[in-house]
Amino acid sequence: MSKKANTFQTPIGTKDLLPGESARWNEATRQLGRIAERFGFSLIDTPIFEDVGVFSRIGEGTDVVGKEMYEFLDRGDRAMALRPEGTAAICRAFVQHRPLTPWKVYYTGPYFRYEAPQAGRFRQFHQYGVEAIGSDDPDIDVEVIALAWNVLQGAGLRETQLLLNSMGDPETKSRYQESLGEFLLNRLEEIDPADREKAKTHPLRALDSKREATLAVVSEAPLITEYLSTDAERHFDRVASGLKALNIPFALEPKLVRGLDYYTHTTFEFQSLALENAQNTVCGGGRYNGLVEQLGGPATPGIGFALGIERLLLACDAEGSFPSPPTTTEVWVIDVTDGSSARDLTNSLREAGIAADRSFDQRSMRSQMRSADRSGAAIALIVGEQELSESVVTLRKLRDDEADQISIPRSDIVNEVRLILGLES
Ligand code: ATP
Ligand code: MG
Repeated sequence: MSKKANTFQTPIGTKDLLPGESARWNEATRQLGRIAERFGFSLIDTPIFEDVGVFSRIGEGTDVVGKEMYEFLDRGDRAMALRPEGTAAICRAFVQHRPLTPWKVYYTGPYFRYEAPQAGRFRQFHQYGVEAIGSDDPDIDVEVIALAWNVLQGAGLRETQLLLNSMGDPETKSRYQESLGEFLLNRLEEIDPADREKAKTHPLRALDSKREATLAVVSEAPLITEYLSTDAERHFDRVASGLKALNIPFALEPKLVRGLDYYTHTTFEFQSLALENAQNTVCGGGRYNGLVEQLGGPATPGIGFALGIERLLLACDAEGSFPSPPTTTEVWVIDVTDGSSARDLTNSLREAGIAADRSFDQRSMRSQMRSADRSGAAIALIVGEQELSESVVTLRKLRDDEADQISIPRSDIVNEVRLILGLES
């Protein structure tokens, strides 16, 4: 009896990026890279896995570290983690390589969190982000936020909102944490049971709860902005006036503390008004002035953001922006002889920098013509027995309404195609 082979599916919370959507994805990541480079940021690529200690700096009380991290022992018994985010790893790289500052880098790639999958929330997802390490200047905060703004504008998003807050310096943060903790403790009974432990041990985390009962209590909580030191206030004012000078609209949101422990001073989020609450944050970031030091480096300030690429495209879908780019195939070669002309012509066209494709397996004329149409190519080149014997090629423009055909000497074909496609020869 023959045994049926097992079939497999993508693991829960992951997906295949298939041709079609992949063209749009490619275009998006290329555009994101170009924008970062226009702002003076260079590409960095760090390993997909790191020593788990790199990421524990994000905060043991955070969901990212406490519940969502993919941890494993490698075959040498080292405790490793699949990266759940970019910033800590890039600070690790900063400490390891000690580059000149300000160090302005951008990244893009897969990240991993063991979350409950839903629309716009995956276990393997992709982030694009930037980090500027080594400067305290509030103008670099403005630059980083302006970069994110440019990305969203460039993707055609108009229904986004920038929320801005300051967490102040570490003293501000700990004074605030204390009074927030006291406030929440007094109202513990009213808080959603699922958030009570968090409210006791990590009061700041309660602020980004998505549960209604908790949010109702939180709406009456003291605000961090009332605790800012003079220095923190000055920094924040300069950021706000910088954004105004660059005509970037924003709203102050004193409850925006973000889900990771390392933030100080500026924090911000871009939310899409076109998406549901549970996945409306397209991009989030802020300052992390203590993180490099926590990773064993010298005291060094830093700021950055991370943007979810799936979320970005989801927001684009919701707003009907950033459509798939047009097909890349320019010429389809149809050969109804033995296929040698298709082989040789596609090769000459490709060598001349023209995207060319063909059918295989000696398909019928009809079938090859259908493939040509489906490919979106602008031009079909047709070789039959007659063309072969006369050393010509029949050229048909596929995007014109009337299908007029012309016969071109085979030796002129590459030049002729270049002319039609508007490429200079
Ligand atoms: P959320 O509140 O939506 O869980 P977060 O605060 O955990 O987001 P960050 O750690 O700041 O998110 O990550 C930056 C961006 O990465 C988010 O704004 C979002 O666009 C995207 N992102 C985060 N987690 C996921 C995920 N599981 N699936 C898809 N995108 C994600
Ligand atoms: Mg999250």
